[in-house]
Amino acid sequence: MYVYSEKTRCPVCQARVNLEQVRLLQPFVCPICGAELQVVDGYLRTLRIISFVLAWLLPLAFGVRNVLLLFILSVPLYGVMLALLVYLVKHFFPPRLVRHSRSDGSMLGLRDPDTDNRRPQHTSGGAK
Ligand SMILES: [Zn+2]
Repeated sequence: MYVYSEKTRCPVCQARVNLEQVRLLQPFVCPICGAELQVVDGYLRTLRIISFVLAWLLPLAFGVRNVLLLFILSVPLYGVMLALLVYLVKHFFPPRLVRHSRSDGSMLGLRDPDTDNRRPQHTSGGAK
């Protein structure tokens, strides 16, 4: 497992950023120079695709053949897979860091990559 990697260098000050400080899902600040950084665009997209595929393949591998059940299971599994991958993968395949730019997302017509990860866990049950 990597702690520091050549890839996780701050593009601004060239300092090596500890992988524990690298945030995959949201921009983060370089601990040395304070520049706003993010991981390179395709990295997170790849993790999402892998998570999505695993969320469908795992129940299939365990013998689930009901499409509705697969669909229902894939939603929480996707979240679990993505959380696991986000935690693990950066240590084995360190992402390249780029300077965070707010205009990039809208330029490519993408939604803010963070919004669908922060689903409000609002289980307001008994309001009595
Ligand atoms: Zn820096």
